[in-house]
Amino acid sequence: MKKKIYLSSPHMSDEGYEQEYIKEAFETNWIAPLGPHVNEFEKEIASYVGSKHAAALSSGTAAIHLALKAAGVEAGDIVFCQSLTFAGTCNPIIYQNAIPVFIDSDYETWNMNPDDLEKAFQKYQNVKAVIVVHLYGLAADMDRIVELCKKYSVTLIEDAAESLGTTYKGQHTGTIGDYGVFSFNGNKIITTSGGGMLVSNNAERIEKVRFWSTQARDKARHYQHSELGYNYRMSNIVAGIGRGQLKVLDQRIQKKKYIFDFYKRELGHLDGLHFMPINDWNEPNYWLTCITLTGKVKPLDIILKLDEENIESRPIWKPMHLQPYYEKFDFIGSNVSDDIFENGVCLPSDTKMTDDDLDRVCSIIKGLWK
Ligand SMILES: *Cc1c(COP(=O)(O)O)cnc(C)c1O
Repeated sequence: MKKKIYLSSPHMSDEGYEQEYIKEAFETNWIAPLGPHVNEFEKEIASYVGSKHAAALSSGTAAIHLALKAAGVEAGDIVFCQSLTFAGTCNPIIYQNAIPVFIDSDYETWNMNPDDLEKAFQKYQNVKAVIVVHLYGLAADMDRIVELCKKYSVTLIEDAAESLGTTYKGQHTGTIGDYGVFSFNGNKIITTSGGGMLVSNNAERIEKVRFWSTQARDKARHYQHSELGYNYRMSNIVAGIGRGQLKVLDQRIQKKKYIFDFYKRELGHLDGLHFMPINDWNEPNYWLTCITLTGKVKPLDIILKLDEENIESRPIWKPMHLQPYYEKFDFIGSNVSDDIFENGVCLPSDTKMTDDDLDRVCSIIKGLWK
């Protein structure tokens, strides 16, 4: 069997920082969804991205759910949501019994098209929130999106699950709108096995999110609940892994960029092969290197050929407005996200890859053009 190459697998630090923190949690018996690592991890993430406050949660999806709640989204409210994304972005809209309206992407950013967002605002009245995504570590066109949300007084939530470390005009994604969401799931740029973080400059709302995430217990000696709660808090052990991973985040971003540059150098000349758009206001984390194909070689040709060689790759996210579950909801836009999905491939972008591994992937792909 040939050596397996992953799309993006967990990569713990060579120094063993994560295990040190876990050991500390064991030694102090903080094996719970609270403890010093949780508090420190929140502070460290907030300070890394430049946000005032952070709440550590059990997943990125939980963070989006509580961001919607913090924004006051309730049954029947409209939420505008980028269509080209993973289901974790929009499922929480349904958890709140709200109504998603999906917005198309543009080719310049692959993310929410501000012109389509404007059209959506002209069409709908009772809009409570907008969820923009920074897909594959590429920042959305935030200036225009922020301006529209301000104009219509609507809360802006950034799904930065894939873009931890990406900056837009010098500012971290996740800190530009009202709320930012990060994920530490197994294949993200850093991982805690599973986990999420909600960041915001609004101290009162983040405190409220912590309250909801720990079953919404009132301040009483007995168990009393005046509000609906959730069991969404991050555990102290998981937070320990996160603190260790955060120490190597910049290293991981460097390697991800190295992988992107390697592919660009080796494959950039191939007919009909285009790389994901890197704008000059965008300093991405290059979570995954993605390409689109407009020539005779199709995405499936690459995916199947790599698979034969024990190498993982995958299609671009299938837009939400094309999903059987979501197709009954409105969609504003044209065929851009559809087109990126049809023609796109995510290349293996695992930070453990060696130059030999990258050469192997590139020569298999080049072989398809012969
Ligand atoms: C991973 C991901 C999520 C969900 O995060 P989890 O931690 O897996 O719940 C949400 N949105 C996007 C764009 C993601 O890639």
